[in-house]
Amino acid sequence: MGKANGPNAGTGIFEDAIKRLDKAFEYAEIDAEALEKLKHPKAILEVSIPVRMDDGSLNIYTGYRVRHDDTRGPTKGGIRYHPGVSLGEVKALAFWMTCKCAAVGIPFGGGKGGIIVNPKEMSALEIERMSRGFIDRIADFIGPETDIPAPDVYTNAMIMGWMMNQYSIIKRQHTPAVITGKPIPLGGSLGRDDATGRGAYYCIKELEKRREWNPGDITVAVQGFGNAGQHVARLLHADGYRIVAVSDSKGGMYREQGFDVPSLMQNKNESRVLRAVYCKGALCELVEADQITNEQLLELDVDILIPAALENVLTKSNAKKVKAKIIIEVANGPTSSEADEILTERDVLIVPDILANAGGVTVSYFEWVQNKAGYYWELEEVQERLHTIMSREFNAIYDMMVEKKIDSMRTAAYAHALTRLGAAVESTGTAKYYKNN
Ligand code: NAD
Repeated sequence: MGKANGPNAGTGIFEDAIKRLDKAFEYAEIDAEALEKLKHPKAILEVSIPVRMDDGSLNIYTGYRVRHDDTRGPTKGGIRYHPGVSLGEVKALAFWMTCKCAAVGIPFGGGKGGIIVNPKEMSALEIERMSRGFIDRIADFIGPETDIPAPDVYTNAMIMGWMMNQYSIIKRQHTPAVITGKPIPLGGSLGRDDATGRGAYYCIKELEKRREWNPGDITVAVQGFGNAGQHVARLLHADGYRIVAVSDSKGGMYREQGFDVPSLMQNKNESRVLRAVYCKGALCELVEADQITNEQLLELDVDILIPAALENVLTKSNAKKVKAKIIIEVANGPTSSEADEILTERDVLIVPDILANAGGVTVSYFEWVQNKAGYYWELEEVQERLHTIMSREFNAIYDMMVEKKIDSMRTAAYAHALTRLGAAVESTGTAKYYKNN
């Protein structure tokens, strides 16, 4: 049976997350009152979801939906199914979504949801009943103009399809724009599948222009060869970058000459095993590579390190051993705040998660726009628009870091996001406005 992880569980994650605001405040154009507003989520909903299991028994699961801030637009953010879900974690993830949407300038606020559950222990039918049950409970809290969910850890396109269908049944209206990350035939967007990796790739291409390096000279290590990690590796490899190390939950591998990434993807996606192979058509042969651990991968002597798996992999215990001079945070929250300080002192450039992985939510926004218009774009249009947004915002944040002599791209990204959020909150009136009128 699912049980709540305590009413205060995860509070620390949220407190730690909002600390980033204070550091960015000195560089942002934002009223202190507007900043204070962002430290408090707009609304929190806790629900109980009774689910009839396949053996006839009844389980009751606890779920949350948090709307952090909707000043710039409807709240937006994924739904996570995981035993470690807690209210504090959902609040922190919703807060990050507010900052991410503001950092890249898309007109959404931040939201997030989750259910305390281990879906690996459930049948597909049980997951479907739980997903529909969750929508029954939160239907009045979400909506295409209020709060728009999406997939997150252990939720996928099919679950989004069930949820959209359940919402449409409740509202007696076909409502594709209530949720993004749907299957294409149910109103999903072309280009959503590789959007996160592609967004990170566009950030690296901007760095390439600034640093004037030759891709063939640049070595890259990618931790996590899932959706986001595979696509950023594929796009970089196609441009001539040397992907010398990759890993998944079972461990990693290193090859000095670099891997043929399409072969690795073909093999991994067919067999679910990460193997050092070179494939010609359907025929794959093993190539030489060293087996390494996930910890060793993070400390390799490479130019670019891409954590694309989990939170908190770069900590105070390994930050001093990281040799890469550039880190692209494709995962959410891979660097602890202590590691952040150590790496920044050591002059490592970190492209922060709220920018580097924002390609996903950007194409989710495109999906919502297409659903509302009832008109669907070609793949090229999706990619072109994503490119425009990612390169524009990357350069705005990088320039702000240089011009204001900010010590990290993370602080600059938060300051950039805060300035947009501040302008929106201030347009609704702050104490300064009322005193002067
Ligand atoms: P995924 O499930 O497709 O892939 C995750 C990968 O990480 C898998 O290859 C898995 O084997 C690997 N992994 C799991 N545990 C690991 C460990 N201990 N060490 C190393 N590797 C491990 O997930 P994804 O969608 O690619 O998401 C990866 C990260 O990117 C997450 O932090 C997610 O929040 C973030 N992100 C994803 C998206 C998106 O659109 N997919 C958007 C924004 C952020």
